[in-house]
Amino acid sequence: MQGIVIKSTGSWYSVRLENEKQVDARIQGKFRIKGIKTTNPVAVGDIVTLKETEENYVITDIQDRKNYVIRKSVNLSKRSHIIAANIDQALLIVTLSHPTTYTGFIDRFLITAEAYHIPTIIVFNKIDIYTEAEKEKLTKLMAIYTKIGYKCVAISALKEANIEELKTIMKDKTSVVSGHSGVGKSTLLNCIEPKLKLKTSEISESHSQGKHTTTFAEMYELNFGGFIIDTPGVKAFGLIDFDKNELSHYFLEMRALLNECHFNNCQHINEPKCAIKAAVSTGEIEEFRYNNYISMYTDDEEENYRDKGY
Ligand code: GDP
Ligand code: ZN
Repeated sequence: MQGIVIKSTGSWYSVRLENEKQVDARIQGKFRIKGIKTTNPVAVGDIVTLKETEENYVITDIQDRKNYVIRKSVNLSKRSHIIAANIDQALLIVTLSHPTTYTGFIDRFLITAEAYHIPTIIVFNKIDIYTEAEKEKLTKLMAIYTKIGYKCVAISALKEANIEELKTIMKDKTSVVSGHSGVGKSTLLNCIEPKLKLKTSEISESHSQGKHTTTFAEMYELNFGGFIIDTPGVKAFGLIDFDKNELSHYFLEMRALLNECHFNNCQHINEPKCAIKAAVSTGEIEEFRYNNYISMYTDDEEENYRDKGY
């Protein structure tokens, strides 16, 4: 029989079977991602094969993951932790007011999600309190990101404005919801699914062996169809170790122009006849996107939180 892992504690897994029954299972055998050492062989979102034994259920196989999000461990074991697998989309919750989300943060998230092969929807929250200037900025940013290829939605979680539109996007999909603290993530999730009572801080499992530093994601079924994956303590995806030469591939509007640079290993910084820089000067590529590219290229974390006019 098959099922989807909706919760993991490290030794036990809650699996939702095809008949919607939920069972606890252990794993049998070794499951590995080629080339990566992980602390957890099975993650939330994994589609697994199980067999029923006399005492319990046992996971015997895992279907190939279409994508997964991983976090590097900070301890000496150098093993990574798979946060979640088989994610259909990420909802990045941002706001232009109280507190402002800078495009440095947005772009860093988008690029990381691209590298993970996860489509992102940008959700602008708190539109009920935007000033005229902020509304103008909202219109501009939505136009820019829509043109690049990202779906954008403007909502108010507090006033429940445009929530139906968001539900339509989430229906029958597995979504990860991210955003820095204060953007209204909990308010939004509680308004979408009041029965969830999502955890917003570190979880403590009743059957955990003392304290553990790893936080496990959990998957919740939505009453209108679909799942959300809550990742306690994970505000954004962990940064991937980028091969800097590939960074511009993940800026979608740059990707389309890469063949036109004179040098095929062009980094779009000082090289002559660079199609990217040319596109920035004509306004085809937004200057702030290029600046965010440069700050990611030079690994300037500070840029995340600096206002560069957007
Ligand atoms: P989280 O840290 O992302 O989970 O943010 P919370 O959901 O805790 O919200 C942070 C603050 O923003 C709270 O005071 C919320 O009431 C407020 N908030 C959330 N959504 C909205 C909104 O759409 N409009 C306004 N005006 N405030 C909001
Ligand atoms: Zn170039």
